[in-house]
Amino acid sequence: MLILEMIRAHRPVSRAEIAKRTRMSATSIGRIVGDLIEFGLVKETDQFSSGVGRKATLLDIDVQSILSVGVEVDRNIVLIGLVDLDGNIVAEQRRTIDRQLAQPESLAGIIADMVMQLAEAHGLSPSKFIGVGIGMPGIIDSAEGTAVFSAQLGWKNERFASIVEAKLGLPVVLDNDLKVKALGESSEGAMSDQGKTALISIGSGVGSALVVEGKIYRGANNIAGEIGHSTVDPNGKLCECGKRGCLQTYIADLAMLQEAGQIKPVSSVNELFSLMNAGEAWAFNIIDRACTYAAVAVSNVVCTYNPDVIILTGDFIDSNPEAFDAVSGKLKDFIWEPFAGTFELKRSKLGKKSVMIGAAKLVLQQRLDRGLRND
Ligand SMILES: [Zn+2]
Repeated sequence: MLILEMIRAHRPVSRAEIAKRTRMSATSIGRIVGDLIEFGLVKETDQFSSGVGRKATLLDIDVQSILSVGVEVDRNIVLIGLVDLDGNIVAEQRRTIDRQLAQPESLAGIIADMVMQLAEAHGLSPSKFIGVGIGMPGIIDSAEGTAVFSAQLGWKNERFASIVEAKLGLPVVLDNDLKVKALGESSEGAMSDQGKTALISIGSGVGSALVVEGKIYRGANNIAGEIGHSTVDPNGKLCECGKRGCLQTYIADLAMLQEAGQIKPVSSVNELFSLMNAGEAWAFNIIDRACTYAAVAVSNVVCTYNPDVIILTGDFIDSNPEAFDAVSGKLKDFIWEPFAGTFELKRSKLGKKSVMIGAAKLVLQQRLDRGLRND
């Protein structure tokens, strides 16, 4: 992965240059480059390195030599993208699904159909596809490919990866949507990076994810980052999980709408923003409090992980630019001095494509880790 990324980012590049940049031995570089050439990802060019010393053949990469399939599944939508080695989507398709179709068997059939249709429509041979990455909301056992629990889809212990695998005949990796989203956002097209990126998402749910040096941090059970149920007030409001004062009881969509409902019925957070912008002080107060707790969440994540980048995203932030500014403005009241200036708070760059791109990247990572062999 590291060497492929080196060639991708610095192409065309010599083996000696890769050895210098990675500090790996010439023997290791030779062997790995040999494998990459054998798999058709890397090719020797007819250019040679210039400068002193023996002239060396330069290596280049064919970014569309293989494609990863990235899939986002949510309550009523499926998004599929074919992603190249530069992290670009070369073809994509979306389809809305109803509750009935959102069952594992039928959904796997839909995904398989969409992948084959995309390949045909764009004249791409499915033999180029190295695997399928799927991001979905819920508690996911990624190692087993099992959706342990997803409230959004109403699933429990579904071995979804193997169901899709059986339909498509391609390796399938299943993971939590925020984890793959963080992976997609962490490197903006690059296959690996050295940073520590945290992502915080606020919308219908509240969660976070962490990517350390290009790898998703999973914790013991792949549920690291579920900050929605971290306690911010032991005497606070009752949460759906049965505890009191969870973070999400202050900032999730439903919490804000319930609060608003005590004054007048409001059907969406966007409507609440409109009311605020029309001068309704009570609407401002609800949003302002949510932004305060979002700043608290950022501060807690900073104290826990010391990331260099925090991506603040989710519908609450992405659909309402003033929310990002408000949270950002409140941070100075919460960030402890030693952390001041140690991180950058950013918006999502990939937007609605981030889960697709991240899922595609995850399956690429895992396939390359195993040497692309089909066993
Ligand atoms: Zn809770």
